[in-house]
Amino acid sequence: MKIQNYINGEFENPIEDHWLENYNPAKGKVYGKFPNSTNADVESAVLAAENAFPIWSNTSIDERSKILTNIADLILGNLEFLAKAESKDNGKPISLARQIDIPRAADNFRFFANAITQFSSEAHESVGFNAMNFTLRQPIGVVGCISPWNLPLYLFTWKIAPALAAGNCVVAKPSEITPMTAFILADICSEAGLPNGVLNIVQGLGNTIGQAIVKHPKIKAISFTGGTKTGAHIALTAAPMFKKLSLELGGKNPNIIFADCNYDKMLETTVRSSFANQGQICLCGSRIFVEENIYEKFKQDFIEKVAQLNVGNPEEETTDIGALISKEHLEKVKSYIDIAHTEGGNILFGGERVEVENFEKGYYLQPTIIEVFDNKCRLNQEEIFGPVVTIMSFKTDEEALSLANDAKYGLSATLWTNNLNRTMQFSKQLQTGIVWVNTWMLRDLRTPFGGQKDSGVGREGGFEALRFFTEPKNICIQYD
Ligand code: NDP
Repeated sequence: MKIQNYINGEFENPIEDHWLENYNPAKGKVYGKFPNSTNADVESAVLAAENAFPIWSNTSIDERSKILTNIADLILGNLEFLAKAESKDNGKPISLARQIDIPRAADNFRFFANAITQFSSEAHESVGFNAMNFTLRQPIGVVGCISPWNLPLYLFTWKIAPALAAGNCVVAKPSEITPMTAFILADICSEAGLPNGVLNIVQGLGNTIGQAIVKHPKIKAISFTGGTKTGAHIALTAAPMFKKLSLELGGKNPNIIFADCNYDKMLETTVRSSFANQGQICLCGSRIFVEENIYEKFKQDFIEKVAQLNVGNPEEETTDIGALISKEHLEKVKSYIDIAHTEGGNILFGGERVEVENFEKGYYLQPTIIEVFDNKCRLNQEEIFGPVVTIMSFKTDEEALSLANDAKYGLSATLWTNNLNRTMQFSKQLQTGIVWVNTWMLRDLRTPFGGQKDSGVGREGGFEALRFFTEPKNICIQYD
């Protein structure tokens, strides 16, 4: 299977004809190749985008909206094909790709196809001066979208859809580890009637073409989702060029459980928020804090539920936990489990690799629960990004809040309680971009999405994304 770049509406081999191998994590085997693009490919993508911009930015809102809706429909029309491709490329259970990843990719396009028809700007009358101000929001031009491997099509489209809706032309790069569904999307975009050059997808390595996109003087804004270290590097490169930046980075999210919550709902959701997508979601609740008086009960019940999760072949309907993304990532996650031994953590469940019949080389790991006693430990401070959670007890609201905020990250938090006062106090004081109360991962696409502290800067989602992808200009008209 050969993946190609998508530039100016054409599928193209990389100019220097260099290729990389694409792995199926479930089997630990190469199953295809994709371009190891270079600066020359990025140049060609930028040129195509630049040429397409005058027409796309002047295409009516109705027409843009219609094309984005077509893309959404075609994604749903190809749901099974895309879900299988995503599962194979990423190792995630097919059921997850079918129920979450692919429908959400379609939703991203449908949402922004509608949102752009409702997007408006402000007007300010300068009373006493016979003057009227209005804010003109214009598309930026050529923008760069760089996305990670954990939710490949879901996050790729989360950036591209608002960028296109707002009238920009895009140079996009999916993660080198999951190039497949972006490639399929290119075909869908052509079929949906997206004009040539409006979306260009360059495949390859982050530190070469990702960097080339960030550095390119004609790319005026970068929307990036990925690790905090990479985000810092991107900021360092782009800031002196005064580019607009939206950085959605890592997380170490607290899941705070009080005894007065709806226990059964909490337990079921906590299993999901800990291990969905092999724990490789930036929003997973990886630090679980439980009120002391239900701690022992929670511990037993949680272990019992987690023990029922089925680790195995992602293609099987019954699989709950598929393969981790790569051998290197598996080793990294495993090394954190080893840290538990030196840090005095208590492995309550899991911790070992799983050998799946006929898939012996796949990257499987047991869901792992580690009891810790000090929030300062590395297990509670560093992002592991795998099927590993820690649990720890607390006594008071103040202690829970302080533990939750004691991390350099600030992406999301989950709170389980039925106490209204506590809900409001925590909602106000948690240092995160999102607080879920008595739920997890319930996403309304109109809401702002992003993190505080080392989890990033800027917000995407809803009109926030359309604001990011447009340049506001103040027009002041004085009249006689
Ligand atoms: P990385 O930061 O390694 O990579 C993200 C993307 O950036 C990839 O496409 C990568 O390419 C590219 N990249 C790497 N180096 C550069 C560079 N120097 N310049 C430009 N682009 C570059 O993250 P992962 O792919 O490993 O994703 C996991 C991380 O993403 C986790 O930390 C997770 O928390 C975070 N994340 C955050 C989310 C949020 O919304 N806040 C959501 C989902 C994930 P390549 O793959 O080729 O290296």
